[in-house]
Amino acid sequence: MDPDVRQALRQAAGAENYRDAPAERLLYASDATGELHPPQAVVRAVDEAQVRRVLAACTRQRVPVVPRGSGSGLTGGALAVAGGVVLDLAGLNRILALNAADHTATVQPGVITADLQAAAEQAGLFYPPDPASVGFSTIGGNVAENAGGLRAVKYGVTRDYVLGLKAALMDGRVFVSGASTFKSVVGYDLTRLLVGSEGTLAVLLEITLRLLPRPESKATVSGIFSDMDQATAAVQALLMSGIIPTAVELMDQRTLRAVEEFAGLGLPPQARAMVLADVDGAPEVVARQAADLAGILAKRGADTVEAAHDPRAAERLWRARRAAGPAVNRLATRKLNEDIVVPLGRLGEMTARLCRVEQERGIVLAAFGHAGDGNLHVNVMFEPHQEEAAHQAVSDIFAHTLALGGSLSGEHGVGIRKLGYVGAEMDPVALELMRGLKAVFDPLNLLNPGKLLPPA
Ligand SMILES: Cc1cc2nc3c(=O)[nH]c(=O)nc-3n(C[C@H](O)[C@H](O)[C@H](O)COP(=O)(O)OP(=O)(O)OC[C@H]3O[C@@H](n4cnc5c(N)ncnc54)[C@H](O)[C@@H]3O)c2cc1C
Repeated sequence: MDPDVRQALRQAAGAENYRDAPAERLLYASDATGELHPPQAVVRAVDEAQVRRVLAACTRQRVPVVPRGSGSGLTGGALAVAGGVVLDLAGLNRILALNAADHTATVQPGVITADLQAAAEQAGLFYPPDPASVGFSTIGGNVAENAGGLRAVKYGVTRDYVLGLKAALMDGRVFVSGASTFKSVVGYDLTRLLVGSEGTLAVLLEITLRLLPRPESKATVSGIFSDMDQATAAVQALLMSGIIPTAVELMDQRTLRAVEEFAGLGLPPQARAMVLADVDGAPEVVARQAADLAGILAKRGADTVEAAHDPRAAERLWRARRAAGPAVNRLATRKLNEDIVVPLGRLGEMTARLCRVEQERGIVLAAFGHAGDGNLHVNVMFEPHQEEAAHQAVSDIFAHTLALGGSLSGEHGVGIRKLGYVGAEMDPVALELMRGLKAVFDPLNLLNPGKLLPPA
């Protein structure tokens, strides 16, 4: 870093919040992608005034800024690919207000998702979005990525809970959008524009979220199938049953075998797929719905069907799904993790096409995920010498996804990982409008450059 620029940034951040020692830069060089892009410096955010000063100083000095929460992103959004400063927002972690009467909470961006869930629960309320990273990801990161999670089938994703925001532009100006009410139709919806903008338009400083009444009880049902087509047809049947499950998850044969080797749960060797579904609500309704869903799984050909009505029994059924990520990681030394999403009616076709890609490219694919949203995490597992085939497999998977009317990412975002494919999904005029919006918010292209939008 140029000494004058360094001096200006230290002054804006407060010397104690500015770090540029190699070890500090390395700490912020990576995220869950495992890629390494050390920033030139790190600034720890301490309050709104300081963030404004830092952003304005970076604009004056033409230094890129990369907002960062916990660094659990899976597409490289928090990586300093163009150098510059990583702005660590994890320390802004206060729940500013939890208003039970209004069913809202206002939080700083660094609040850990599980902490908000716990606070809501203490007030007798419920914050539904639950990415699997709930224990360590931040609300700011969740909003910037529009994070999904298990309960999205019934409750939707982060976007559905964001009522209002306070955010800072790269030039240091701060603006407020949205409201603390459930309804508001005044002006353009900047709040929804910022949700999922991957830190490329503004730095989130405060977020007002909608809370729901806490469901009284829940139950889980699972079905193990010896045929994937039957399993995807069963998912369809669950979703057409008139019941809205909170979650419907699917795991394929590769995943189940990996889970069995990893966790030894006693899954039958002929298992080709497993379907898990949760329901919640009043106890008597939950009991009836769980029985109905179990009946559907059995009728649709499941070899084994189980239902769990208390949390411990439910956790036992969920063990296979929770073990899926670490278990699959053991299938090869390298992994490309994609989270494609297809229209619900095309799920069966997509799983069949994944088998074809696996055979054609001679590579291991393990798929599991949120089947109730059509969202599958496809893990392309490979050894270093198979790198090219792995990337070709990813291209094939994206091509099949788009051919079926799907989208390249259900919840992990574009970041740097999917930049090369955005043009294949996005309407060219829509892409131009997005580039125009980026120029309005960040005319010098200093806020998280090189993410989300491919270069013109
Ligand atoms: C084991 C594991 C499981 C996961 N499961 C899920 C899942 O089920 N569903 C899901 O959707 N995702 C999941 N993820 C991905 C990840 O946890 C989410 O994308 C999460 O929202 C990222 O939050 P973070 O605080 O770690 O953000 P970071 O990784 O630090 O940042 C992510 C993006 O948000 C931007 N950003 C962060 N804070 C701000 C801010 N205050 N203002 C502006 N921009 C900001 C960054 O610039 C970056 O572009 C998982 C990841 C892991 C490692």
